[in-house]
Amino acid sequence: MNPRIGDITDDYCTRCHRMTNHSVAAMVGEHVASVSCRTCGFQHDYRGGKAPARSSKTKPSAFDQVLAGIVGEMPKSAAEPKPRRKR
Ligand SMILES: [Zn+2]
Repeated sequence: MNPRIGDITDDYCTRCHRMTNHSVAAMVGEHVASVSCRTCGFQHDYRGGKAPARSSKTKPSAFDQVLAGIVGEMPKSAAEPKPRRKR
């Protein structure tokens, strides 16, 4: 069944940077030309319902950066249990 204007379809929102529900805003022939994000209201060209491929040079996430900082700065002796002193 062909989509019609006002139908809800999934697409990648370039403002939300995620897949969200979109309303079909414009059609060219039988193809969806433009959609409107139902989360933020941003209208953009229809991307075929696919998220763009991520580039290979992705930055490490903030969590990974913080984790690397913590692990890198932790002294080795603190990670090992201290030997008990004999009386
Ligand atoms: Zn959006």
